[in-house]
Amino acid sequence: MVDELKVAWDEAPVPAGPQRVVVWLNGHGIVGDLDVRVCHACRTGVVEHVRIDTSFRRRGLGCAALCEVVSGLADYGWTTTAIEPAAAGFWDRQDRIPAAGLGAARYCDHMHEAESLNGCE
Ligand SMILES: [Zn+2]
Repeated sequence: MVDELKVAWDEAPVPAGPQRVVVWLNGHGIVGDLDVRVCHACRTGVVEHVRIDTSFRRRGLGCAALCEVVSGLADYGWTTTAIEPAAAGFWDRQDRIPAAGLGAARYCDHMHEAESLNGCE
């Protein structure tokens, strides 16, 4: 079932700006999304949120989607924003982002810049 999953990146409004990645499941349409920040200049990425619709959880879709996103830019340094206790199990199960990067978001200067350009301080 997981190979019927696709991820589609929305274009970032500004380089290194916040980006939405839609999680699409064959026969069901959109079942979730991820908020990510990627800077190609610094080769770094931050996962800010992973959402999967309630009725589609516990099927490994979140892990599969995260895997798709991160493995496309596998040599980038990936971190995440603070991890909510409810999501701790999910982050324990995934093995794409090194433990040291979990909850330790590393935003580069371009990302900070993008935020002021975007007016979302
Ligand atoms: Zn950067």
